[in-house]
Amino acid sequence: CGIVGYTGTREAYPVIVKGLKRLEYRGYDSAGVALLDKDQLKIYKKKGKVADLEEAIGTKNIEGSTGIGHTRWATHGEPSDRNAHPHLSKSGAIAMIHNGIIENYAQLKNELTKKGYTFSSDTDTEVLLNFIDEIRQQNDCSLEEAVRVALRRVTGAYVILLIEAGNPDTIIAARKGSPLVIGVGKNEHFLGSDASPMLEYTKEVVYINDYELAIVKPDQLILKNLGNESITPYVQKLDLELAAIE
Ligand code: GLU
Repeated sequence: CGIVGYTGTREAYPVIVKGLKRLEYRGYDSAGVALLDKDQLKIYKKKGKVADLEEAIGTKNIEGSTGIGHTRWATHGEPSDRNAHPHLSKSGAIAMIHNGIIENYAQLKNELTKKGYTFSSDTDTEVLLNFIDEIRQQNDCSLEEAVRVALRRVTGAYVILLIEAGNPDTIIAARKGSPLVIGVGKNEHFLGSDASPMLEYTKEVVYINDYELAIVKPDQLILKNLGNESITPYVQKLDLELAAIE
C-alpha cells in the first residue's frame, strides 16, 4: 500500500501514476487518484493493479496540476471499486486517501450516524474523512484546522492526504505511524510513502514525523504539530539512484 501526491506546474496524473508504480512492491489490491482541475474535484478508482486503473481512465482528459494517488491494502471492507480510495466527503468538497487503520472508527461512525451521515463504503477512511468534514462545517474553519482537531481524537496509525475543491493548489498531509516523505522541487512538491516516487525530480526531501501536519503548495511547505505550532522543515539531500521504470 502506498500514497503519492503532487502539486506544482506539471500535469499531476502522470507523476502520480508513475509514483504509484514505484510503490507497487509494497503490495496492494486497488488503486485510485483524485485531481484538482481548477475548481473541479475528480476521482478515479479501481480494484486491481495500477495498470487496471490506467486502462479504466483510458484516453479521458485527466488534467490538473494538484493531485493525490493511493494503492490500498484493504483492512476495513473487501477489495472493491467502492472501497478503493480516494474517498469523497458527503459534502462533495474533500477527497482523501489513507494508509493505515483508524482504531476508534466505530465510535466516530456511531457519532456521525446519529447526525444523519450515511456511508458509501465500508472503510474506516470514509469515517475519518466525514468526521473531518463535520468538524469543518461545525466550526466553520479551514480544512487544515479541521484535520488538526479531528486527529487529536483519532487513535490508530495513518498517513492521510487531502485535497479540497475551491483550494486548487493545496494538499494537506498528516501522519502517525505510517511513513511520509515530501520532496522539495522548484515551484513544486512531491509526497510519497517513500522517496522513490520523487527521486527523478528532486533529491531534496523532508521526512515528516508522527503527529505532524503539512500544508503543501507549489512554492510553500508549512509544517505544524497538532497544537498548531510551526515546525521548521529539515531538508535532507538524498544520495540515491533509481532504476528506470516504464
Ligand atoms: N484502512 C483503510 C482501508 O481499509 C486503508 C488501508 C490501507 O492502508 O491501504 O481502506
